[in-house]
Amino acid sequence: MPELPEVETIKRDLSILIGRPFKSITVYDEAYLEKNEIMPKELKKLEGQRLLQLSRKGKYLFLHFSKPILGFHLGLTGSLILLAGENPFDKFKHKVLSLNFLEMCLVFSDMRKFGRLFLFDEEKNFQNFLIDIGPDALEIGLPQFKEALRSIRKPIKSALLDQKVISGVGNIYADEILFRAGINPLRSAGSLSEEELQKLYQTMKEVLHLAIQLRGSTIKDYVDGLGRAGMFQTKHLVYQKYGKPCPRCGEPIEKIKVAGRTTSYCPQCQR
Ligand SMILES: [Zn+2]
Repeated sequence: MPELPEVETIKRDLSILIGRPFKSITVYDEAYLEKNEIMPKELKKLEGQRLLQLSRKGKYLFLHFSKPILGFHLGLTGSLILLAGENPFDKFKHKVLSLNFLEMCLVFSDMRKFGRLFLFDEEKNFQNFLIDIGPDALEIGLPQFKEALRSIRKPIKSALLDQKVISGVGNIYADEILFRAGINPLRSAGSLSEEELQKLYQTMKEVLHLAIQLRGSTIKDYVDGLGRAGMFQTKHLVYQKYGKPCPRCGEPIEKIKVAGRTTSYCPQCQR
């Protein structure tokens, strides 16, 4: 599932569309739109406008036209791929829609259909939507980070996955961050010392920045906005590596469930 580094990579790839004349929208999967309570005719309002900017919060990506704002959550298998030319190619079996810009089009596909689409016709609605998403993991400051976690009694891994607490970190990056910070995923978030919280905060920023530099992690099917795989999976130390030796101490990495998610960690190195 695309997490913050993957969505940020796509956002950067799509910046080439800013200011480019936007010609039309082609809808391929009306049922998908219906499920997201979007009428094709509402989308048509975008035609003839220009893309003013792109923004991201957590795992959400927003395309700002003068009105409305179009939002995407890629769910498990959603992808946004930019193509040269104006005809979406037939190779996209699960395409939902394409945004046809001058000499380029952006194809949104989603095989498993767990992604979501949003249209905000008023800035006010958009701002209200953002309020419900926790502070972005790249934007959050240290005092705010400590404050957010201090009162949480559930495991630190669950807290990191809770998009209302901090947004953008999912299963891959939570495992990688906790291993690198030496913190056991089952520890109650509120039990972390000041020092541990600071270490966790710094590690989170480092891991996310490095993952963005390497254009995200490709485990199964994630590709960036240009249809290419990411590279950060080559830097994974524990994610899905249960049964293999820990890269620090050599003891086997263990597998447990936290918040219903498979979690890999080293009981020796993560206290
Ligand atoms: Zn270890």
